[in-house]
Amino acid sequence: MADKIRLGISSCLLGEKVRYDGGHKWDRFLTGTLGKYVDFVPVCPEVECGLGIPREAMRLVGDATNPRLVTVRSGVDHTERMLAWARRRVVELEKEELCGFIFKSDSPSSGMERVKVYSASGSPVKTGVGLFARVFMEHFPLLPVEEEGRLHDPTLRENFIEAIFTLKRWREMLASHGGRGALVDFHTRHKLLLRSHSLEHLRRLGKLVAQAADLPVPELYDRYLKLLLETLRRKTTSRKNTDVLYHLMGYFKGDLSADEKQELRDLIDLYHRGIVPLIVPVSLISHYVRKYHQHYLKDQWYLNPHPLELQLRNHV
Ligand code: SF4
Repeated sequence: MADKIRLGISSCLLGEKVRYDGGHKWDRFLTGTLGKYVDFVPVCPEVECGLGIPREAMRLVGDATNPRLVTVRSGVDHTERMLAWARRRVVELEKEELCGFIFKSDSPSSGMERVKVYSASGSPVKTGVGLFARVFMEHFPLLPVEEEGRLHDPTLRENFIEAIFTLKRWREMLASHGGRGALVDFHTRHKLLLRSHSLEHLRRLGKLVAQAADLPVPELYDRYLKLLLETLRRKTTSRKNTDVLYHLMGYFKGDLSADEKQELRDLIDLYHRGIVPLIVPVSLISHYVRKYHQHYLKDQWYLNPHPLELQLRNHV
């Protein structure tokens, strides 16, 4: 990759000692494996809004839809300080060209979902959102976001990482200043990847691209990007991937022997039943793409959406 992907992250996940107790929450996968492809932009809301290290622990209290950020022991309310800082910080982050953000789970400042909110009686409900995370997601409503805990789920991990790599390619396409032609090429090469997220969205994107000549370029880019990010938020499933795999198989009608077709059909079926990982049928199809010089498929990002070293398609 020419440039690394720029990704926002809760600072403590990088091993920075910024937690209330002076500790960190270093995450080996994020820094070690994903870190090879990513330039992290660390954000610690509690330190950056002026609270020190160490500091008194905080929690969300009150109305779960609009909670206050209050220290646990002395009851100091930091809500306004945090919100004022967060609103300034998200504007600054616009310049960073982020392709996504990884939040620290369960934090009253950084948690993306299911953060505990305590009622007056002291009993918590797990329906809150950390104050900074909420401001960030309202400011960048379609940007891919995840929590480090959810990234242990192989499907969520694959979906998130696929989204940030796709957004990186989008940014590179923009930087090429290739106008409508570059967008048409981007769309063509992502068709199968988009199909694995949502066939309906692929059709809507196709209709938009078909009107490309009639739309001013900035409007075309803007509408395409919004729809692209919406598409990537639809998670892939084994059913959707199976549909794409059979669709891919259709390109080899005239090339494969009856035996080869049966072998590929069997592998797709094993994948669909959760017995072999996606990488197995994809590898065989990639082999046929090279063997039979399938130029259209050779350019499809679906067959190679992120580095193999990340092993994102190796799970069942
Ligand atoms: S969870 Fe957020 S606020 Fe807490 S230490 Fe980590 S980055 Fe800072």
